Amino acid sequence: MVTTRTHPLLTAPAQAGAVTPCANAASASADPAYWQAAMPLLSVRSIEVVYDEVILVLRGLSLDVPQGAIVALLGANGAGKSTTLKAISGLLKTENGAVTRGEIVFGGQRIDGTDPDRIVRRGIFQVMEGRRIIADMTVLENLQLGAFTRRDRENVARDLDMVLTYFPRLRERTGLAGYLSGGEQQMLAIGRALMARPTMILMDEPSMGLSPLLVKEVFAIIRDINRTLGVTVLLVEQNTRAALSVASYGYVMDQGKVVLDGTADELRNNEDIKEFYLGGAGEQRKSFKNLKSYRRRKRWL
Ligand code: ATP
Repeated sequence: MVTTRTHPLLTAPAQAGAVTPCANAASASADPAYWQAAMPLLSVRSIEVVYDEVILVLRGLSLDVPQGAIVALLGANGAGKSTTLKAISGLLKTENGAVTRGEIVFGGQRIDGTDPDRIVRRGIFQVMEGRRIIADMTVLENLQLGAFTRRDRENVARDLDMVLTYFPRLRERTGLAGYLSGGEQQMLAIGRALMARPTMILMDEPSMGLSPLLVKEVFAIIRDINRTLGVTVLLVEQNTRAALSVASYGYVMDQGKVVLDGTADELRNNEDIKEFYLGGAGEQRKSFKNLKSYRRRKRWL
């Protein structure tokens, strides 16, 4: 049976230090009744995902993302984080994958099984792992590509200018996108997503391959976009520290399901998270060889 969990952010006023939801939600958040009445913007309910009709990767995964929040999806390599994003964005279809059980509800409507272009039109845009910008197109052409599903063509030029205010260094880059640095490519990928005017962005490892300084810069932009544009974000990250610096809530995945979830503060203070993902001093998380002891203890399972 499909079960629906009520998200803690929907039953309590925003936690101290939590990311403020979108402008409308922020003004309404003083009223607990608002949160009690609200449904999550996105609700993934007990989904199973199978690739090539036989490879079972997600095994009853559930998560909720409230409107205006940044929610982190954490976990080791191969846990199924990217698969979860592709199930939501519909891109699973392009890899011969399918949601075989459960349901995905966005804005009150089921979207599992829907084609990716229709899901973009409904307001969800995925920023793929590895950025996937078009190297032999210019920055502007890449940004314009993000607007391809929009019907309000008259607003595209204005939005281009708005997006470039978030990424001023992209304004100066007039050449081909392939010549951008890793950080600039990540910014371009996020900018391209914004050009679709999404309600929600799914971000797959925005920190990948970036220096610690650039990670900070990119995450500050993510927080800024969330706060000023009210765009809801589901953020897949292996950089747990960076993810929890902007997210208000997080889910930890292992072997295709959620094994732990909580507010960013709860996760930061969780002993397992500290040991395996935050790893003592410095920016570097502990090596995943430690996962062996995690598997032995099975404290999350
Ligand atoms: P990473 O951080 O390494 O990307 P992840 O948590 O995002 O890990 P997924 O990429 O979702 O994990 O992969 C989960 C499992 O699904 C892995 O065992 C992977 O081999 C498998 N998988 C992913 N994509 C496919 C595919 N297109 N066909 C078959 N199996 C796949």
